[in-house]
Amino acid sequence: MTEYVPTIGLEIHVQLQTKTKMFCGCELSFGDEPNIHTCPTCLGLPGALPVVNQRAIEYAIRIGLALGCEIAPRSLFHRKNYFYPDNPKAYQISQYDVPICGAGRLGDVRIHRAHVEEDAAKLIHSGAGSGRIHDAQRSVVDFNRAGTPLVEIVTEPDVHSPEQAREWLTLLRETLRALDVSDVDMSQGSLRCDANVSVAPKGATELGTKTELKNMNSFAFLEKGVRAEIDRQVSLLEAGGRVTQETLHYDPSSGELTSLRSKEEAHDYRYFPEPDMPALVVTEAQRQAIAAALPELPSDRAARFEREYGLAAERAHELAFNRPLGEYYEAAVSGAKHPVAVANWLASLVERIGSEVDPSDSKVTPAAFGALVALVEEKQISRDAGRTVLDKLVAAGGEPQAIVEAEGLGAISASDGGLDEIVAAAIANDPDAAEKVRGGNNKAMGPLVGYVMKQTKGRADGGEVGRLIRQHLGV
Ligand code: ADP
Ligand code: ZN
Ligand code: MG
Repeated sequence: MTEYVPTIGLEIHVQLQTKTKMFCGCELSFGDEPNIHTCPTCLGLPGALPVVNQRAIEYAIRIGLALGCEIAPRSLFHRKNYFYPDNPKAYQISQYDVPICGAGRLGDVRIHRAHVEEDAAKLIHSGAGSGRIHDAQRSVVDFNRAGTPLVEIVTEPDVHSPEQAREWLTLLRETLRALDVSDVDMSQGSLRCDANVSVAPKGATELGTKTELKNMNSFAFLEKGVRAEIDRQVSLLEAGGRVTQETLHYDPSSGELTSLRSKEEAHDYRYFPEPDMPALVVTEAQRQAIAAALPELPSDRAARFEREYGLAAERAHELAFNRPLGEYYEAAVSGAKHPVAVANWLASLVERIGSEVDPSDSKVTPAAFGALVALVEEKQISRDAGRTVLDKLVAAGGEPQAIVEAEGLGAISASDGGLDEIVAAAIANDPDAAEKVRGGNNKAMGPLVGYVMKQTKGRADGGEVGRLIRQHLGV
C-alpha cells in the first residue's frame, strides 16, 4: 500500500474586539437585540462612505508583529464581490494583492499573509423542512455583526497532521489572547478556522489537490474533521479515484463530510480596488510604537519561566500558555525561594478547583499559596499536612500558618522525641517488614513508614521517618 503524507494549510478569521466597527461608528456588541447597531454604511445603503477604524489597524499590526510578519508601509483595500443575504452591499471590503501583513512565522508554521476585512451580517435559520419556503422555515438577518473588523491569517501549507493542526491553532490562539485584540473564542465565532487539506504519496515532489473544510468551531472538531478528510482522500486515491477541489462541511455529530460547493477562484469574486478608500498607510513611527508596546508572548514567557524559575520545559509551557494560571504562578512565586515546588503544588491546586477555573477567582490567594509551599519546603509541615491545608484553603481561604496552628498540623520531627517511640512501635508491630529491610529489601519500608504516618496523622516528614527507621534497624 502506498504511504500518503497529509498537508494542511489554515485560514483563520479573528474578530477584533474594538469599540466600533471596521468602517463606521456603530458599536460592536454581542448578544444585543438584533439590528440595533446599524447605520447606512454597515447596512450598505447607497452613498454611504466607509472610514477606516484606526484601532482595528493598530490591532492588525499588533497581530502581524507577533507573527513576525512584514508590515506593509502602504496596503490596499479591494472589493470582493459576491451576492448573499448577509452581505447587503454585494461586496465585502477586504484586501487582495497588497495586504497589511506579509510573510511571517509562528512556531514551525510559516505565515503567508494576514489582511484586514469586514465581517458579514449574521444569518439565523429556523425551522426544518421540505426545502420549500413556508412559515415554519425561514432565515432572518442580524446586521449587528455586519462590518465587525476581522483579520484573516493565512498559513503556508506547513502542517502535516491533524494533531499538529490542533496544537498550532492553540499556539496561535494563546498568542492572540496575549495581544488583547480579540476574545479568541471558537465557540462564539470570534476565532474561526478553515482547513485546506491534501494528501500526496510519500516522496512526491508536488502537493495533492486540496479541499477546504469550512468553519470548524472547536479545536476537537478541527482535528476530527481534518482526520476524516485525510481518510476520505486516501480511500479515494487507493480506489483509483481523484480528489476534486471543493469546499466541504464537516458535521461533527455524524462525522460526515458534505460538499457545499465546487471551489471558487479569485476571479469569481471580481476583485477590484475599493474606490471609496485611500491606501492604508502605516508609518515607520507607528510600526515602532506598536512594536515597543507588544506584551510578552506565550512562547517567550515559557522560555523565561525555564530560565528564571528553573522549570522543566513542559511545565513552563503549561503555565505560560494558560494566561490566568501563569499570572497566578508569578504572583505566588514572587519572593518565594521555591519556584519549582510552587509550580508543582499549583498542579494540586488546579486538580482541586478544576482546570477551567482561574485560580485567582478561588479562595486561595497567591500569597497564601506561596506561604503554604514554603511551609512544606522548609519542613515546617509534612507533605500530607500540606495537602490538608490546601484543602482547607480551597474550601474557606485563610492563612496557612493559622490553619496549621489551629489544626495542630505542625510537623513532628525526631527532635520532638515522640517520633522515636512511634518508629520503635512500627518496627515492633511488623517484625517481618523490619527483617526484610535489614536484608536490603527497600520495598518493605512501605508498611513501616505507613504505620508512622497513620500514627502521626501524616504530620511527620516522609524522608525523616525513613531515616529514623533505618537508624533504628542499623542499616
Ligand atoms: P487558493 O488560491 O485556492 O485560495 P491558496 O494558494 O491561496 O489557495 O492557499 C489557500 C490556503 O490553502 C493556504 O492556507 C495554503 O497554505 C493552503 N494550501 C495551498 N495548497 C495546498 C495543498 N495542496 N494542500 C493543503 N493546503 C494547501
Ligand atoms: Zn454602522
Ligand atoms: Mg487564496
